[in-house]
Amino acid sequence: MGQHGPGIWPRSLELFNFLNVPEVNDLGKPNPPVRSYKPGTLELMNDSSMVPHMEPSPAIPSHTPKLIGQQLLDAVLRRHLERFSCFVETGTELRSFEQSDEGIAAVLAKNEILETFHTKWMIGADGAKGVVRKQLGLTFLGETRDVAFVTGDIRLTADCLDRKHWHRFGVFGDLGVSLRPADEAGEDGWQFYLLGSNLDMSIAQSEERIFETIASLIPTEIAFKKAVWASEFRADIRVVNKFNYGRVFVADAAHVHSPTGGQGLNSGIQDAFALGWKIALVAKGLADKSLLETYTEERLPVISEMLEVTTAILNQTVGTGNMTSRGNPKLFMLGINCRFSSIVLDEFTTPVEGRPINAYGVLDEGHLEAGDRAPDAPSLLHIRPGESDQTTLFSHYRPWYHTVIVFAPSPADATSDLGVLEPCDKSIVRSAVILSSSAPAVHVACPADLVLLDQGGHAYFAYLVEASQIKVFVIRPDGVIGAIIHGAEGARRYFSKIFVDM
Ligand SMILES: Cc1cc2nc3c(=O)[nH]c(=O)nc-3n(C[C@H](O)[C@H](O)[C@H](O)COP(=O)(O)OP(=O)(O)OC[C@H]3O[C@@H](n4cnc5c(N)ncnc54)[C@H](O)[C@@H]3O)c2cc1C
Repeated sequence: MGQHGPGIWPRSLELFNFLNVPEVNDLGKPNPPVRSYKPGTLELMNDSSMVPHMEPSPAIPSHTPKLIGQQLLDAVLRRHLERFSCFVETGTELRSFEQSDEGIAAVLAKNEILETFHTKWMIGADGAKGVVRKQLGLTFLGETRDVAFVTGDIRLTADCLDRKHWHRFGVFGDLGVSLRPADEAGEDGWQFYLLGSNLDMSIAQSEERIFETIASLIPTEIAFKKAVWASEFRADIRVVNKFNYGRVFVADAAHVHSPTGGQGLNSGIQDAFALGWKIALVAKGLADKSLLETYTEERLPVISEMLEVTTAILNQTVGTGNMTSRGNPKLFMLGINCRFSSIVLDEFTTPVEGRPINAYGVLDEGHLEAGDRAPDAPSLLHIRPGESDQTTLFSHYRPWYHTVIVFAPSPADATSDLGVLEPCDKSIVRSAVILSSSAPAVHVACPADLVLLDQGGHAYFAYLVEASQIKVFVIRPDGVIGAIIHGAEGARRYFSKIFVDM
């Protein structure tokens, strides 16, 4: 697999942190500056940035996109799964499946020996050519563009190639190469991209011809060691019409798009995160199966809009030959929302008939709606006996439970709103009262799991709450604001759409 799709955007880093996999952020490297040379020379043309810049803010702790080769990401995630006694079985192929009301019978091949595996649910993350989407008969509408490139991992050294830059040689509309240092692969490891209308795609089959082509574009002595893998890619831009059929779902295998925006893998991560909590609740008998239908409802507009963004970047890259045209802040994926979802509830926003969906791009500090990403807030102080540590909101959001946050002038003001949560098990709904920085930091008995003082004022600022107001937010397990409500009645209305017993 090698480096493949290494760009991890800030929203995905947030999701990995919610999952307790901080290694992705720790091992990932910031994008190096792109160094371009005058064609046919080693003369510097310019240095530029491959990604947009975002100022850090308390609401957005992960603001730097990171690069981590897919091979390493894969190893990190497998190691994490093993902590839950979940092991990826390699060398096992899904050949076909049949589903009924009760479950799925999947035919697997292990060393060409077939066996039938029974399961209640199935999620196809088997790539664009995978069998799951095809067998479900989902349409895969879109286009294949006449834009192709050869990419792969290579090991080489040359005096002119420092490892602090992403080097670009040649003319990209015509014939060019980019070399990105891939330190995890070793001091001589690079991910290469060869592209341009004069590129002969068949070189992907020959290590020697790849070496020759790169050498023809960089006028210096290069010590080539090995092409670890190489492959030809065409820009495919497609999405399914539906993300599930019955008990079978597609995540990642639901879409394919031009790699210019670096969004494919990130979108797949988010598909899985958006689906996981819903399947968990239904599998435990806590939610009705109809909750699963909202997976398509919430993801299809996001992916459709993402395809427009990445296709625009592709068009610009092809038109100008400039791969640094990825300046669009939407790529950070922090504005992704599902304001349009039938299961979110907002008592503070008046619905506007016919408002266009803006699924990929709402990130406005002055506005927050149900369906938006829940912001972080640092510098919160626990005001329980024996707990005086500072904490952040994000350290309390987890994918296996809802978090109900009551902003209130005092714990007593929040008590009646929290009563509605009494029948809910702590493993699926937790609660926090957040007091404004002007409230006294004294312990008062309160049924909430947490009472936090917003010492830095970041929570009240990010959630747009006045110090004297009572405002309740329900944060879904996927870190999305499920509801913004006045109190208990709103919480009952929101949870009645999620849980069977509410
Ligand atoms: C050059 C390039 C750069 C990219 N850069 C980025 C980037 O920076 N950021 C980003 O987000 N995305 C990027 N992408 C896109 C990203 O690589 C893909 O979106 C992602 O790999 C798709 O993941 P997937 O798991 O669906 O499919 P795949 O990566 O294709 O993996 C599918 C897996 O399923 C297995 N499989 C298939 N069929 C079966 C079967 N029947 N039974 C069992 N197993 C099966 C395969 O063996 C494979 O392991 C890039 C893509 C390319 C080509």
